[in-house]
Amino acid sequence: TPSPSPPPPTPANASPRRLPVGVRKKPLRVVVTGGAGFVGSHLVDKVLARGDSVIVVDNFFTGRKENVAHHLANPRFELIRHDVVEPILLEVDQIYHLACPASPVHYKFNPIKTIKTNVMGTLNMLGLAKRVGARFLLTSTSEVYGDPLEHPQKESYWGHVNPIGVRSCYDEGKRTAETLTMDYHRGAGVEVRIARIFNTYGPRMCLDDGRVVSNFVAQTLRKQPMTVYGDGKQTRSFQYVSDLVDGLITLMENKYTGPFNLGNPGEFTMLELAQVVKETIDPSARVEFKPNTADDPHMRKPDISKAKSLLNWEPKVSLKQGLPRMVSDFQKRILDE
Ligand code: NAD
Ligand code: UDP
Ligand code: UDP
Repeated sequence: TPSPSPPPPTPANASPRRLPVGVRKKPLRVVVTGGAGFVGSHLVDKVLARGDSVIVVDNFFTGRKENVAHHLANPRFELIRHDVVEPILLEVDQIYHLACPASPVHYKFNPIKTIKTNVMGTLNMLGLAKRVGARFLLTSTSEVYGDPLEHPQKESYWGHVNPIGVRSCYDEGKRTAETLTMDYHRGAGVEVRIARIFNTYGPRMCLDDGRVVSNFVAQTLRKQPMTVYGDGKQTRSFQYVSDLVDGLITLMENKYTGPFNLGNPGEFTMLELAQVVKETIDPSARVEFKPNTADDPHMRKPDISKAKSLLNWEPKVSLKQGLPRMVSDFQKRILDE
């Protein structure tokens, strides 16, 4: 008797009708507000790559569709143009709340809008998290420490912030967002996470974002002098974006509320940063001094011992390693201009 014919071959990409038990759990539904921006788009790449679904909610104030255009054909990806100041109904498991302009140039452009985004936007996302039982992560900032009187900054430091200055819409906005987050946690039982992010750089930053690393790199590539504000002796600590994204995901998946500092402790003066940019791009690059902006913090460096010990996270990419990766992205985009 002829043997039964073998089953038709399955195409390599066809999903089996029934998965063996325990092999794959249902993909998580993850919202990333501000997901068309610099940090958000890198986070989206990583969450999609691990197999989960992503909804980006963004009003494109500083974000760009091009940052996520490579996902538009992915059925696990959705892009919604929406302002987080307005309520929104979604059914999701996790919310990464990033929506907020981050560069001083952008957040000072319309300060009232900035504080509305921080307060009403965060309130809406917490209301959403409460309604659907989602876990909520706030991307706060090292700016909550203001012009710090402690150095380096630990999470236990309460900060030194001017409540009525030109940066207050952002600094105090984020401080209020942290307060709201903790009140929804204590009062409504929402699972929350708070990250305090220190200066981060990398590919996809807006070319004319106004932040120091993007300014110096774009200026040097365009053969313009690097604009050093003030005497250039103020310090910052610069984190490469992939380290931050790893930190955000680790924090979301862990059991600790935080807040956690996420930053690279390598500290540079702006003049030292200019020197690294010069060595990386063009030995003939020059600097020019400009008056500094109001309330500029004199120094900033994260103490990351809490994230190291509880989350087992620390940054891996130094400024000298990360800068060239950003330069090649900027080079391509400047040529396309
Ligand atoms: P970004 O400006 O590139 O991204 C912000 C995104 O939020 C943009 O896509 C923008 O269009 C969107 N957005 C702004 N207002 C919105 C609104 N009302 N509704 C919907 N979308 C809105 O900035 P980024 O560097 O990617 O920053 C992301 C988050 O990380 C921000 O919350 C920022 O405060 C925080 N953070 C960033 C840094 C850093 O150095 N990059 C440092 C500290 C904190
Ligand atoms: N909200 C939202 N989506 C939701 C649930 C709530 O945008 O799925 C908004 C809601 O419109 C409100 C905010 O989140 O402005 C806070 O909601 P909460 O239920 O905590 O407060 P309440 O609506 O009772 O004031
Ligand atoms: N800065 C500078 N030249 C620039 C842009 C910024 O010297 O073209 C300085 C700025 O005065 C501040 C530091 O760089 O001391 C970091 O500024 P940025 O706007 O990048 O971030 P933040 O002030 O939020 O840390």
